[in-house]
Amino acid sequence: DKYVYLFSEGNARMNDLLGRKGANLAEMFSLGLPVPFGFTVTTNACRLYYEDSKKINSKIEKQIDYALLRLEQKTGKEFGNTRNPLFVSVRSGSPVSMPGMMDTILNLGLNDLTVKGLAQNTGNPRFAYDSYRRFIQMFSDIVLQIDHYQFERELDQIKRKAGVEKDSELHIEHLLELIKAYKKLVKKESKEEFPQDPKVQLMMAVGAVFESWNNQRATLYRRINKIEQTLGTAVTVQEMVFGNMGEDSGTGVAFTRNPALGDPELYGEFLWNAQGEDVVSGSRTPGSLNELKTKMPETYEDFKKIAQSLEKHYCSVQDIEFTIEQKKLYLLQTRSAKLTPKASIKIAVHMAQEGLISRDEALLRIDPDTLKGLLHETLDPKTDVNVIAKGLPASPGAATGMIVFDSEEAERLQRTGHEVILVRRDTNPDDIHGMVASVGILTSQGGMTSHAAVVARDMSKPCVVGCSAINLDEAKQEVTIGEKRLKAGDIITLDGSTGRVIIGQVPLIAPTLSDEFMTLLGWAKDRKKMAVLGSVNTPKEAMQARFLGAEGIGLCRTEQMFMDPVRVPLVQEMILSQNKWERKKALDNLLPMQKSDFLEMFRIMEGKDVIIRLLDPPLHEFLPSAETLSIEIERAKLARDFEDVQEKEKLFWRVKGLHELNPSFGHRGCRIGITYPEIYDMQVTAIAEAALELKCKGIEVHPQIIVPLVSHANEMKMVREQVLESLSHVFSRYQDQIEIPIGTFIELPRACITTRQIVQYADFIIFGCNDLTQATFGYSRDDAEGKYLAYYIDYKVLPENPFVSLDEEGVGELIRMGTVSGRESNPRLKVGTCGVQSSEKKSVRFFQRLGLDYLSSVPHLIPIGILSAAQAVI
Ligand code: PEP
Ligand code: MG
Repeated sequence: DKYVYLFSEGNARMNDLLGRKGANLAEMFSLGLPVPFGFTVTTNACRLYYEDSKKINSKIEKQIDYALLRLEQKTGKEFGNTRNPLFVSVRSGSPVSMPGMMDTILNLGLNDLTVKGLAQNTGNPRFAYDSYRRFIQMFSDIVLQIDHYQFERELDQIKRKAGVEKDSELHIEHLLELIKAYKKLVKKESKEEFPQDPKVQLMMAVGAVFESWNNQRATLYRRINKIEQTLGTAVTVQEMVFGNMGEDSGTGVAFTRNPALGDPELYGEFLWNAQGEDVVSGSRTPGSLNELKTKMPETYEDFKKIAQSLEKHYCSVQDIEFTIEQKKLYLLQTRSAKLTPKASIKIAVHMAQEGLISRDEALLRIDPDTLKGLLHETLDPKTDVNVIAKGLPASPGAATGMIVFDSEEAERLQRTGHEVILVRRDTNPDDIHGMVASVGILTSQGGMTSHAAVVARDMSKPCVVGCSAINLDEAKQEVTIGEKRLKAGDIITLDGSTGRVIIGQVPLIAPTLSDEFMTLLGWAKDRKKMAVLGSVNTPKEAMQARFLGAEGIGLCRTEQMFMDPVRVPLVQEMILSQNKWERKKALDNLLPMQKSDFLEMFRIMEGKDVIIRLLDPPLHEFLPSAETLSIEIERAKLARDFEDVQEKEKLFWRVKGLHELNPSFGHRGCRIGITYPEIYDMQVTAIAEAALELKCKGIEVHPQIIVPLVSHANEMKMVREQVLESLSHVFSRYQDQIEIPIGTFIELPRACITTRQIVQYADFIIFGCNDLTQATFGYSRDDAEGKYLAYYIDYKVLPENPFVSLDEEGVGELIRMGTVSGRESNPRLKVGTCGVQSSEKKSVRFFQRLGLDYLSSVPHLIPIGILSAAQAVI
């Protein structure tokens, strides 16, 4: 078995075995790019390490020895050689990107002797000793697990003694003293000398990187991002190049296109005389690539060419780490860049237009879920805002929340229902849970590629970094910005698109969608087979649905039209009526209102299908609760308002009478229409009158009526007859008519089993996944989540929440049965789906496989439905 691969033996396709970093380094090496040579220990070796109770077995060690020999031959350097020493970095790299979650060790191979060789060869003893002390610090922290604060303390002490403020001001004598102090600390803490043999250092480091796969933050990151816990990490061992060898050296990170906005420009950051860690940790804020361009134009041009060729080679935006050692360029890593959703769309569209990828590929590259972030609101530009500081716009979007200074507090407040903004000097991988809990992140240090920025973009959270105007005092739990002092709990707003930090709350407005977004949506519309309609409650939502691309209304819930505060008393009057005639009178008052809603809805939809559902919820939902009423009765009694007492008591008893122990399966849906036909009559009359009045004005309208909660064909037969009768009354009054198909919701298991019979009376059917899931599982859609469903999902009793992603095996099987038998009976039957699951990407694939005709989703998820429907046919 082969556990170690030289760069010359691997390629990009060996991602699972070599990790992304290892595979891409091998690929770059074979492309002839300037990559320091090295080798990669595989993820299989990592799994074996755990199987062998955390030991690197002799087979693997032998292979490492051999690879090391080849590395020495290739570089002409030797591990532990005083005159010509070899130094390596030992880097983690998993098959899926987990930025900054695992450990890396630099400068390995340094010891009391080789440090002299480094000093001599570079002619820069200060640099050599500084590297050595950094190495001891890093190795002790990661491999020996000695708390790094102890080293910081030693460093601070020496700085104080030397009377300097910055690390870089320390002289060689100070560094020598520091190294001595560090070694003493290691001896004290680990009971052993700091290992001097580079081979021993290497084996310990490889083990430590394997260990870092299972550190707390990496495990959590995998859980959040649904990454397999058993993949394991590879370890790449690579010849060191030093970006901190002097003023003609440096290190940088660059993206082949702007990762936040998507603009086609080489975009990045560069730090002179520094190592990669300095950029990533956010401890120093780097300058722009332009500095490199002005100071070393040729090297810059070389780099730019290589960057472009890498993007072409991989057909994706590359995130490249590079180092310049005494003017010579080296590439240390390339990977597909993490992009904001906005940038992903722009880039996918541009790349398709440039011919780099196909349109289908562009559509597949966008995760439909990420569109949610773009459809979020942004700051209203018309509002005067009190901008107190400006930082780098690291991740776009706006967020308002309370200031918190630490991750634990962020988590605690979020759990109690608060929206918080995490304010930090910088973040590190231990802050992941705090970042998850926050609505936005603000840091005073670090650049666009710092940990905070990368992770926030990944999470699609608004983030502002490097905001140096703010001064943090964690001890006092406050920040000062100029004169202004803000405390934990104060409200601020972040604008991650411009980098602005604003005091207080700012009104938000609807998003503006980019040209590229509209282009992509257009391609998706052309590609998909299923129609995407909107589920709306009001004319305002219908407008929004159209704007976002709905091809009609798949579900108009009329009950929301009853909830309007002006109408509620009329609705209550209707419900409280003692007999049919009283009820009819109350309904007559509701009719013009309902009709005006439909007039508006039809106008907005301009001749597109509008499927209107007759009343569905149990009537008690329109009445106050018995508890509220009894309190009000007591109050009225105290106020001696006996008339009011009488009124309220009447209402109270009616509410009691309507009370049901199990309202989801109660007197609702078509059961209302059958027992109180005058209610459906009013609704059908309003629909038909509105349609005919518009028709008469030459406006095209396509209304359809749908009946909820049918379980038996007889119900549908009966309601259909009623609806036809109501329609015929209107038609004869208006001396005109219009075609209005009558369909049914299939949202109960019995309806799925007997669809064949039901469709004798239905022109079309729509599956209501919410109710169907409720009835199939017997889980209350209103209560399950808070009671046991979350537990079920955490403990894998269920793979997923069936109210979010369709349960294909059970609920899906019922839908399949209904579709097949419905179509057997009527081959031209139109079949749709609605409910939360109908715009969820995986469920959409399932509906496409069944060959449904359309899906309907709430307005802000319509673009997600469109893209998912397109992906489902690619
Ligand atoms: C459904 O049950 O899936 C549905 C769309 O209707 P509602 O959510 O209004 O019950
Ligand atoms: Mg329903």
